[in-house]
Amino acid sequence: MQLSGFGLSDYRRLLKTALDHDYEFYTVAEYFNTSSPETPSIILRHDVDRRVSNAISMAEIETDLGIDATYYFRTSTFDPAIASTMEAQGHEVGYHYEDLAKMRGDVEAAHRRFATNLESFREHVTIDTVCSHGSPLSPHLNTDMWEDARTPADYDLIDRAYNVPADDGTSDRVYFSDTGRDWNVTVPGFGDVHSTDDVVRTLKSGQCQDLYILAHPSRWATSRFQTVERPAWDFAAETGKAFASGAHSLQRTSGRLAKQTRVVQAIRTLSSASPRRER
Ligand SMILES: [Zn+2]
Repeated sequence: MQLSGFGLSDYRRLLKTALDHDYEFYTVAEYFNTSSPETPSIILRHDVDRRVSNAISMAEIETDLGIDATYYFRTSTFDPAIASTMEAQGHEVGYHYEDLAKMRGDVEAAHRRFATNLESFREHVTIDTVCSHGSPLSPHLNTDMWEDARTPADYDLIDRAYNVPADDGTSDRVYFSDTGRDWNVTVPGFGDVHSTDDVVRTLKSGQCQDLYILAHPSRWATSRFQTVERPAWDFAAETGKAFASGAHSLQRTSGRLAKQTRVVQAIRTLSSASPRRER
């Protein structure tokens, strides 16, 4: 975890550097609708898990710089007036779904909830793409709701955000995520990237032409207070995720292992767990 470099001034500097080096920006929907994306380019995505006010600040910075991004809102963070304002600014608004976790793994109920929520978002804004929320406290992966015959097209959606071709051999686009408040990615020809300064240097180096950036507004500090408070919150959140991940693996093996073995495993899991990437 990086203790600094995740403030809004750092974020503006990152975007400004990209513009200075002629990177084209795409929302997720724009990217899907483009047959041949420009190079260099950046797909810019935000998952609004908490702290909607931070998302507003980020959107304002982008608007000021003439950049459009995609904002995925959960039902708990969606506000019609805020979403409409972002859309008017030129940003894309999407649905950050977590229906399978909310319905405790019931796929039918998850699809019903998904349809209802999508419809209520669409009363206010256009929704062309969706993106799953990583529900760390649930044993259910929200993306598993698509394992039946239904597809995003059945809901008049272009696609899901993680279907952008990254790391699939057909594209050199590199995925950068601020999950864990550390970019934590290796760029071929450049090296390891951890801090936002590293990202800025990567953009200046010309070694990474195509990027997919996921920035969670809640991870970024918008005030002096948040500069201290955000890393502390992140540390607590990542520790909680590691604990939940250990607990779920325990649930799956509890029938076969003696209690003492499970405790040893849990300790091992906790000590080796790394922050899970949300895609
Ligand atoms: Zn999320």
